[in-house]
Amino acid sequence: MLDTNLPPVNGTLIWYYTICPRQAWLIARQMTPDENDDNVVLGRFLHEKAYNRDRHEVLVGNIKIDLVRGARGEVVIGEIKKSSHARESARLQLLYYLYVLKGYGLDLKGVLLFPLEKQREEIVLDAAGVEAVERAIAGVREVVAQPFPPSPVKIKWCRPCAYAEYCWA
Ligand code: SF4
Repeated sequence: MLDTNLPPVNGTLIWYYTICPRQAWLIARQMTPDENDDNVVLGRFLHEKAYNRDRHEVLVGNIKIDLVRGARGEVVIGEIKKSSHARESARLQLLYYLYVLKGYGLDLKGVLLFPLEKQREEIVLDAAGVEAVERAIAGVREVVAQPFPPSPVKIKWCRPCAYAEYCWA
């Protein structure tokens, strides 16, 4: 049976799940990482300050999205990341937002924004994207429903991870 104390799937959980399922489990249980970790601070700063003039944050259901201006002046869904290193995870997170909005009858485009690299990438939800999102949603549900977190596995994301001390001390 689904534990109703667990948060519903959201974009943040999709992002963490694709980086490291253990992180998704910890976040879902409100075991939040060190808020003063450099990566967490930088991510928060960029999210609060980057593209401030062109951004409007809105809450749709249980997801918070940034509306920004697209390259042709149209309104699109923006997702700001501090680096493009986890581009695939960022794509999936944004595809998830587009998927949820489609459920509300809103057919929008998205744009990934990497302000420190002055890069942007337009994202469109297609059939493959829907399939990937639905697979990720099922994966998140399965992981967070487990009574214990997945064991830590050394991956390239461990070094900058705010949970590194917790996992590897
Ligand atoms: S330190 Fe590594 S194993 Fe632990 S949560 Fe972070 S990425 Fe996952």
